[in-house]
Amino acid sequence: MALPHPEALSATARELLDRLGVAPELLAGPLPSVTPITGTPLVGGLRSARGADIDDAIDRAAIAFSAWRVTPAPARGAVVRALGEHLRRHREDLGTLVSLEAGKITSEGLGEVQEMIDVCDLAVGQSRQLFGRTIASERPGHRMMESWHPLGPVGVITAFNFPVAVWAWNATMALICGDPVVWKPSEKAPLCALACQALLDRAAADVGAPANLGQVVLGDAETGRALVEHPGLALISATGSTPMGRAVGERVAARFGRSLLELGGNNAAIVAPTADVDLVVRAVVFAAAGTAGQRCTTLRRLIVHRDLHDEVVERLAKAFTSLPIGDPLAAGTLVGPLIDAPAADRVATAIRAAVTAGGTVVTGGERVLADDAPAARYISPALVAVPGQLDVVRTETFGPLLYALPYDDLDEAIGLHNDVPQGLSSSIFTRDLREAERFVGPAGSDCGIANVNIGPSGAEVGGAFGGEKETGGGRESGSDAWRAYMRRSTATVNASDDLPLAQGVEFA
Ligand code: NAD
Repeated sequence: MALPHPEALSATARELLDRLGVAPELLAGPLPSVTPITGTPLVGGLRSARGADIDDAIDRAAIAFSAWRVTPAPARGAVVRALGEHLRRHREDLGTLVSLEAGKITSEGLGEVQEMIDVCDLAVGQSRQLFGRTIASERPGHRMMESWHPLGPVGVITAFNFPVAVWAWNATMALICGDPVVWKPSEKAPLCALACQALLDRAAADVGAPANLGQVVLGDAETGRALVEHPGLALISATGSTPMGRAVGERVAARFGRSLLELGGNNAAIVAPTADVDLVVRAVVFAAAGTAGQRCTTLRRLIVHRDLHDEVVERLAKAFTSLPIGDPLAAGTLVGPLIDAPAADRVATAIRAAVTAGGTVVTGGERVLADDAPAARYISPALVAVPGQLDVVRTETFGPLLYALPYDDLDEAIGLHNDVPQGLSSSIFTRDLREAERFVGPAGSDCGIANVNIGPSGAEVGGAFGGEKETGGGRESGSDAWRAYMRRSTATVNASDDLPLAQGVEFA
């Protein structure tokens, strides 16, 4: 399958940006914009935000906050509803831009925009459901109530692999909760951020919302660090690798800010003796090789009962070798490129380490299409059989690399499953109800997401998304994740003529 010419990709990017409403003057500066499809520049360059730019953006967000926090929440929802409408109109444009910048196949690029639309719908409804509790007071004629108030401007830092949806999870909830957003997107996907911002600006103008409810500051880790240190951002919501989150969490805690961390995963699936093997193969191929293994929820460890191990490994090897690899925008492609050369090097290093420690490469792990695009990195999805838990298996390698490990009984399988530093997503394939319940129960998977008979990737917006341990503990999107963007106030109102003190204290 031939790859497109770099100039054709640049021309497509310019057309898309124009349709999405990105001002041409934003496309000038030293920050590169590269497509992983060919490893070549997409548009000339972009402007990096530094010191004063960031201070100015946060000052503007503070001004927007003072008006937005007293706007009724259902009225705040109107901006998000309008954003959802613009996203519906531009689903294909933005989805294609995601494919160009992150290398996702067309269907996954569109799926990411659909996820934005879904979370807009969720947030609009949520804007009428920001509720607290009324609590019985021990004092006669008193009432206690919990209110949730806007928190303040929110800094959002995002990873390259979900260049638009993660911003939408945060921005939609922050906006309905009354908080303006300052976004530092991945330096590997700046165009997607400019496009989202252009759509939000249009949405805000449609409903007459205050200026600067959303702003983008482009740049690398240094720009991210400036946001993290800034006392004007009440919450830093950071998505990315665990080392990044550790640095962010420590710095934000040092200034008594709040952080919401969505970090690395090292997700596993257990295949129990009663599993439906056809279902396992279909689910595992998508979960391990989809998005070229570059999802935080990608399946990286398959823990298979010894009775099924050889059959499952053989069938997966066959399925992996038949996956079409190439131009993510071409019909039929299922595996696109890795984001860049260092990402491919990390996969190669991990495979070598696994082999040195006793593993066997069953299939894949080879570079393909090198002659068509020397600067791009396409890798055939790798399946490596390992005898047991190895150090390399306990590390997140962000690419299409799946380890298969055998097990003999469920206790051992759950032990192997949980014996990693990360705790994002997990699955079990079984037709045994007791095994399924055990896995999702308190002594089962220790992850934030635990699935039965589906793979670990591809979450819906209605549930709270996030993970435990070195995944950071944050929750975004559905359920009560909105509370992260608000502050809780407990108010006690005395409607009596007396002044009884709590705990029966006398002071007279
Ligand atoms: P990364 O950690 O390299 O970068 C993520 C973002 O953090 C970028 O915007 C980067 O500029 C910024 N950054 C880096 N160091 C920083 C610092 N010290 N202070 C402030 N900002 C800093 O991650 P990546 O390679 O873009 O993405 C892949 C990683 O993200 C994987 O580990 C993946 O599991 C994780 N991820 C997690 C989730 C989740 O929801 N749990 C979702 C997507 C990706």
